[in-house]
Amino acid sequence: MLKTAVVTGASRGIGAAVTRELAAQGYQVAGIYQRSDAAMQVLSQECGVIPFAADLGNPDAIAPLTEQLLARMGHINLLVHNAGISCHGLFQTISPEQSRRLYAVNVTAVIELTRALLPVMLARHSGNIICIASMWGEVGASCEVDYSVTKGALLAFVKALAKEVGPSGIRVNAVSPGTIQTDMTAVLGTQTLEALAEETALCRLGTPEEVAHAVCFLASERAAYITGQDLAVNGGLL
Ligand code: NAP
Repeated sequence: MLKTAVVTGASRGIGAAVTRELAAQGYQVAGIYQRSDAAMQVLSQECGVIPFAADLGNPDAIAPLTEQLLARMGHINLLVHNAGISCHGLFQTISPEQSRRLYAVNVTAVIELTRALLPVMLARHSGNIICIASMWGEVGASCEVDYSVTKGALLAFVKALAKEVGPSGIRVNAVSPGTIQTDMTAVLGTQTLEALAEETALCRLGTPEEVAHAVCFLASERAAYITGQDLAVNGGLL
């Protein structure tokens, strides 16, 4: 039977790299994105990903999205929660709306999409869920307090859910990237990025493909005895 994967935030950066690599490994991939129609069209032509546009920050979007995904894919072997947003600034300067949006996209969408898709994995007694967290969820970042909390929440989610669904044949893991060259980090500017690169043991930033390799390892049978774990892909920054 065809292996299927759902990847959120598939249009750019880490999600696009994960989508390409899963497609190369024979997965039929459903790619969720918000606005980047043109990028998804290109990716679809390149690797056959099926695009689904939805605003994951809108809780009302989850039910119709789930319905569309299940109608098109039938079953789901792998769910990669990659879509995420960041927000920079001193903690007290972040507005309630910025904070609400951050938690909605980075945490609530992950929890609710998992809750909605889990029954099809439970029914087959098999499945694989991978959350893209962050090194800031592990150690915390100044000027990214809310973001760090959202990513720390994902790490707790992974550990708890892995215990609950392990007996049902479902594995749940996290990948925590360091600084990866994508649109999300481009806003930091060259000087900051150079400083972050210097702080890594490997003296450079990471690529989206390097994160994708870790995701594909955790998705594979080679990781069959790994669940509830957080795999750091940070070039030795910490
Ligand atoms: P990115 O280049 O900014 O891409 C973000 C992706 O998420 C895009 O596909 C975007 O879709 C999608 N997305 C954002 N908000 C969405 C929403 N409300 N609904 C649906 N899709 C939405 O980000 P990235 O750097 O690849 O990061 C991917 C993940 O890795 C994020 O969870 C991020 O927190 C995490 N991470 C990144 C780094 C890093 O250094 N880059 C480090 C640690 C963790 P559109 O293109 O349609 O907007």
